[in-house]
Amino acid sequence: MHRLDHLVERSAARLPGHVAVEDPSRATAITYAALNAITDRIRDHLRALGVQPGDRVGIYAPKSIGTVASLFGILKAGAAYVPVDPGAPPARNAFIFKDCSVRAVLVDRKKVEGLRGEYEGQELREVAALDDLLPYGADLALLSVPPQPMAGPPVDTDNLSYILYTSGSTGKPKGVMHTHASALSFIDWCSTVFEPTPEDKFSSHAPFHFDLSILDIYVPLKHGATLVLIGESLGKQPAQLAQVIAETGITAWYSTPSILRLLVEFGKMETHDYSALRIVNFAGEVFPVKHLRALTKIWPHPRYFNLYGPTETNVCTYYAVDLPVPEDRTEPYPIGWACSGDECMVADFDYREVAPGAEGELLVTGGSVMRGYWNLPERNAQAFHVGEDGKRWYKTGDVVRDGGGGCYVFVGRRDRMVKRRGYRVELGEIESALYKHPAVTEAAVVALPDEQNGVLIKAFMNWMDDSKPSLIRLKQFCAKNLPLYMIPDRFSFLDTLPKTSTDKIDYQRLKTLP
Ligand code: AMP
Repeated sequence: MHRLDHLVERSAARLPGHVAVEDPSRATAITYAALNAITDRIRDHLRALGVQPGDRVGIYAPKSIGTVASLFGILKAGAAYVPVDPGAPPARNAFIFKDCSVRAVLVDRKKVEGLRGEYEGQELREVAALDDLLPYGADLALLSVPPQPMAGPPVDTDNLSYILYTSGSTGKPKGVMHTHASALSFIDWCSTVFEPTPEDKFSSHAPFHFDLSILDIYVPLKHGATLVLIGESLGKQPAQLAQVIAETGITAWYSTPSILRLLVEFGKMETHDYSALRIVNFAGEVFPVKHLRALTKIWPHPRYFNLYGPTETNVCTYYAVDLPVPEDRTEPYPIGWACSGDECMVADFDYREVAPGAEGELLVTGGSVMRGYWNLPERNAQAFHVGEDGKRWYKTGDVVRDGGGGCYVFVGRRDRMVKRRGYRVELGEIESALYKHPAVTEAAVVALPDEQNGVLIKAFMNWMDDSKPSLIRLKQFCAKNLPLYMIPDRFSFLDTLPKTSTDKIDYQRLKTLP
């Protein structure tokens, strides 16, 4: 069987002395041979602890070479890794570990006590200190965790490779299960499009609990290239980040548009040499065209790709952006064509394919789609539409239209569409209109229930000028670009819009702001 951990083994056999992972924040690096040896040791520790194929093992630590080694050690033991946000409250992380009943956790020593506190009355036994990892800047403890009673029927855990928990609409995170095969369907597609070589250096900007990390980690390591770790704090400091990208000679970058915008605005990028950079991938949210245009002026040489896909599908569509970005273009680029061995369909509310060019929900089936949510049989039944031919289509909840020949245009999330005075309002369209103002650097629009008008539309903006416009001026500007029923009721200015731990605009937080 084709497995994720074999990727490192094969590269280690081919290029033992080549640098596999580089950690610029700690000025350290590891070769393929050393990485492979450490991952073997972690696998042995896990086996000694009784971890069996099909088990789950948590990772609760900031990004480091030790963390990368840990996830390969877990895969080598035949288990699935469950990475959590090291910055999230211990209670949330413990909920995740209990939910999927991890057998063990590789945990940053600073987090051990917090986690223990969440397992009251149960012993989290420290099994190994993994001191071998210390030279690489990780202070990890391996804890054995008592098994938790399972709420639902047993899950088929054969060949699961990782479970990524995403925030669920119920407020409880839900675990997206991927197999080795579903991850490799995407990774193998990346090989054909990005043609990585051992000379490449891929960025690892996204945290490991975010699905962008799948491309980051496995694509370079499959090809004997180097993975450059960007830790949490460096990742949010545009000036230092811009410098590190240039100095490490990163050749392939991948992040959300929010981070790329920060780089353009505050990175002082004109002072650095980015001649090594050949690929820029972005995903996770719409890239406002004015910021993409500005980026391509600073980095004119690389190829740009818009990658789309919920965590549940890996990347399932892609679009290669032609440069230059026309000066008068304001419409975001399409999400493009199906990829990763997937097939897409635009469907109506009854899951019938709509007429070509009409809007509908994007459904995805094929190799890179998740197995399902961990232990949530009802959610699984809702998440998929099963066609007459038995194909399982994942319902993305995103509204798209086929812009021609299977090149999909993203319209918005289904839950970001509201009805106002009987008209359908797409909140993303209001944001695009706000971005047309030269002083707007960030814009996000939310809708809240309102007793008087049914729905209240609030716009939050980051405004570049010191002098803020009056409400009347703002409404006049909006009226030039939007029908009256789409003009926001309220406008607020923020220095920066709140972001999620995966570096996307945090709409849930915005809804709570005045
Ligand atoms: P996540 O599961 O956190 O990766 O979020 C997935 C959602 O992010 C998708 O359902 C889309 O709504 C949005 N998204 C992901 N990629 C893109 C993209 N390239 N353009 C626009 N929205 C995107």
